[in-house]
Amino acid sequence: MIAAEVLAALLLLTAAIAVWLVVRLRRQSSVADARASEAERLRDELGRRADVLEAANRCVRALGSSLELDEAFDAFIREVRGLVDFDRIAIVLSEEGSAQVLAVAGVGAEQVLPPGSARPIKGTLLEEILRTGQPAYRTDMNEPGYPEEERFHALGLRSRFVTPLFRGARTIGMLSLVRREPNAFTDEEKELVGLLGRLVASAVQNIRAYEAERKTVDELRRLSTLRADFVSLVSHELRTPMASVIGSARTLQQRWRELTAEQRESFLQLIAAETDRLAALISDVLDTSRIDAGTFSFRFSDVDLAELVLESVAAVELASDEVGLRADVREPLPIVRGDRARLRQVLTNLLDNAVKYSPAGDAVEVFAYAEDGRVRVDVRDHGPGISEEDQRLIFEKFGRVTTGNARPGTGLGLFIARSIAEAHGGSLEVASAPEHGAVFTLQLPVQG
Ligand code: ADP
Repeated sequence: MIAAEVLAALLLLTAAIAVWLVVRLRRQSSVADARASEAERLRDELGRRADVLEAANRCVRALGSSLELDEAFDAFIREVRGLVDFDRIAIVLSEEGSAQVLAVAGVGAEQVLPPGSARPIKGTLLEEILRTGQPAYRTDMNEPGYPEEERFHALGLRSRFVTPLFRGARTIGMLSLVRREPNAFTDEEKELVGLLGRLVASAVQNIRAYEAERKTVDELRRLSTLRADFVSLVSHELRTPMASVIGSARTLQQRWRELTAEQRESFLQLIAAETDRLAALISDVLDTSRIDAGTFSFRFSDVDLAELVLESVAAVELASDEVGLRADVREPLPIVRGDRARLRQVLTNLLDNAVKYSPAGDAVEVFAYAEDGRVRVDVRDHGPGISEEDQRLIFEKFGRVTTGNARPGTGLGLFIARSIAEAHGGSLEVASAPEHGAVFTLQLPVQG
């Protein structure tokens, strides 16, 4: 009996153990299932992240694929498009207090803040990025925000995500993505753009350094061409008058008796005119080297500019047969403090040039007046004018326009004239358009 009871108890115990084992096993297998699916999820996530990283790396390689900015940026955009959606994308750098657009593509790329354009950095989102070193998300540009956004908004753009570009610990600029829909960037996309920003900074830096170097090399090459042109020009300009001086002197010496008094007079006049030309040329070259060396000196006194203008106009008019000069001086002009001889040199240079480039029978107009505490002298001609791109060149040392109907000259006059104007605290500028003549304006401060 006892044995039967023990047996039943044993059976019961065995059954309980079996049930416990089954339950435990089931539980373990569901934990294993959960672990397996978690592992699968992690593997997928890891794969996705690896893909994203690979795509981001492709973007960086694209940007580093060329040192030519346009090519590199085009390749970069193609890769970014496969990674994250945008309607406009830009790389903007901070340089000398302004926001310089290095590259931009998409909506309004050519109209609003196009590549190469710059705006003051003050108040812009870039200024904030530089300060915080953190990405910024403008969910809706409908809301008042940064001054540059008004124009983005007018293009129908609404949300803007911007991430800093770093060089070492320093923020050098930003990568900006813009979309038409408000609040259009997911957290994942923002993370991705942030990653791109961190990766592209050094490629951007390389392109920038290369561009700066190329600009310097181009500038040096241009200056050296100007100088070489100048050397051949000066030797030509020296040789021509010298040849006529020598020729005339010889003729006078050898044929003095045969020549009539008038002939002798005209040879002597030629010698005088050509030696004047030589002296002027040599004095320009000397002035230029003094300006370069910082030893160009001035003798300041009170100058009556009205008198000086009329005097210079009269002298140039005397030497000009085919072009007239008209002067309108709004007297009384305030007295200026300056070097009279040097100011006369500036005026004479402007008047000579205006006469030289005027069509025969035409007149050069000179207008002198006081305005906003300054005296202004405008010298206007109706000659061929100067194109926008040449207007910087002509004020440079040796700078001359050699295309079209170029006249003889060394390209030093305006360089010297502007240096003189600036040494007086004034300025010398030109306003002109091809075929519409030119107006050169000298401005001088009035004694305070
Ligand atoms: P230069 O006359 O000796 O060449 P300048 O420095 O006086 O030197 O002038 C530089 C250049 O500017 C000239 O070679 C010419 O191309 C241009 N220029 C100056 N004045 C005028 C003008 N009034 N109209 C058109 N071009 C001008």
